[in-house]
Amino acid sequence: MTAAGTSVLSVRDAVVEYPGGIRALDGVSLDIRDGELLAIVGPSGSGKSTLLNIMGTLDRPSSGTVMIAGEDVTTLPDRQLSALRGRWLGFVFQQFHLSEGLTATENVATGLLYAGVPRKQRRPLALAALERVGLAHRAGHRSHQLSGGERQRVAIARALVHEPTLVLADEPTGALDTANGRAVLELLTQLNEEGTTIALITHDRDIAARLPRRVEIQDGRILTDTGVDRDAATGRDAVDSGSTTDRDSTTDRHATAGIAP
Ligand code: ADP
Repeated sequence: MTAAGTSVLSVRDAVVEYPGGIRALDGVSLDIRDGELLAIVGPSGSGKSTLLNIMGTLDRPSSGTVMIAGEDVTTLPDRQLSALRGRWLGFVFQQFHLSEGLTATENVATGLLYAGVPRKQRRPLALAALERVGLAHRAGHRSHQLSGGERQRVAIARALVHEPTLVLADEPTGALDTANGRAVLELLTQLNEEGTTIALITHDRDIAARLPRRVEIQDGRILTDTGVDRDAATGRDAVDSGSTTDRDSTTDRHATAGIAP
């Protein structure tokens, strides 16, 4: 458990280079504090997925560091990384990624598989998470019996069930119609008000505009971050001033290719 306002995730000078010299991230620094709800917004190809992958410990940066809950995850071995993911992170995807053959409760309980929760406790915890997202009445339904909006709620419950330090939501409304998309956004806002820290990745400026903090990314660099002042780019304490981060030149680094999970 982290105290309010402490850093849950810190990315420092992250560079991701793909073979062929493509710099998908070109010196990104980003701090997320406990209790925040932020949008990482940018057009297609701007580096959002690459940033999400290194924040979610699915890839490693070619250079730079990623700290989660104070631990440098850049150098951790893969086995430790997956244990860490299971404990500290929750993922929500555009296409839900539910198992069709499982009930809502069973799908949510899979979120506890890598969190070290004894089998007996998984079902009651899954039911409680479904309650939080307003889906207790669908607990026994299988995925194909649920609407898109309901499926995303199940996926959100799965991301929450182990009480992660940070939820990473990748275009969570992208596969939904406007009404369901809005409802999912309202749910994420409500969960944040209840204490969950959430980073939402989106290409949609209208969605980003509804969130308290917006980090705008383009060509692998952060253009603006409404959650930091200029000093944040140098690693000092940030305040909510809504100003633009420094676009300091990235020194030439001896980068190696990103490593797949
Ligand atoms: P976004 O999620 O904002 O659409 P990405 O992070 O997927 O952006 O991509 C950023 C840049 O990196 C793009 O120019 C993209 O073509 C490139 N890129 C992404 N993945 C790879 C890869 N595996 N190999 C080579 N280039 C990649």
